[in-house]
Amino acid sequence: MRIARFTTGDDPRYGLVQEEAGTTYLAVLNGDPLYMPVAPTGERLELGDGVRLLAPVIPRSKIVAVGKNYAAHAEEMGGEVPSRPLVFFKPNTSVVGPDDPIVLPGFTREASYEAELAVVIGRLAKDVSPQAAASYILGYTVANDVTARDAQRTDGQWARAKGFDSACPLGPWIDTDLDPEDVAVRSRVNGELRQDGRTRDMVFDIPYLVSYISEAFTLLPGDVILTGTPAGVGAIEAGDRVECEVEGLGVLSNPVVRRD
Ligand code: ZN
Repeated sequence: MRIARFTTGDDPRYGLVQEEAGTTYLAVLNGDPLYMPVAPTGERLELGDGVRLLAPVIPRSKIVAVGKNYAAHAEEMGGEVPSRPLVFFKPNTSVVGPDDPIVLPGFTREASYEAELAVVIGRLAKDVSPQAAASYILGYTVANDVTARDAQRTDGQWARAKGFDSACPLGPWIDTDLDPEDVAVRSRVNGELRQDGRTRDMVFDIPYLVSYISEAFTLLPGDVILTGTPAGVGAIEAGDRVECEVEGLGVLSNPVVRRD
């Protein structure tokens, strides 16, 4: 099942994504699938003109992200693989949706994309074991952990570098059936392939991350975990279009603009 959040100009609604003869439709749902039981309304909309996808979830409480979770990326950043997950927060105000602009703030001259598989939590999780982790996961989406490398180096803490408005594109939908164990995680800038890793190369796998993170923080429905980025990160500038893809899930595409 693929759950999308969308707008036709009014308040956001949810729909199930259906493909038919090359066209994408949304079977509209009543309610919010993250927080309540839902039912189809019977209405069916074609994706496109007038029907725009939004970030599939705006976390109520937090996005927990994991740094250096692929060895080849840790190496390209000039660091070692951490001995335990390197965890940081991105605020929910950093979330934008498919096709929304990534707005580079004036304080950075060195912004980078990071394609990542994102885990969407489905129910309250605290002190969860790795064995039980799967039952707390609603599904998966694609994330771009946009990072101001210069601020990341100079600030000490990563809040500004990774938490500015629009630094967390999410989408295009939540896939509840994806098997995340060994899928490609890719990015393209202006159509050119930049990252092409596989989730099997994560240093700490998803069950371990959910368990480790839930020991420190209570995870709430709609919270999101970013699982790290493979090697190949690099610069983006105003005028670029960056696409992040998780194989079997979908492509998240965003233009880059600059606010000066
Ligand atoms: Zn990242």
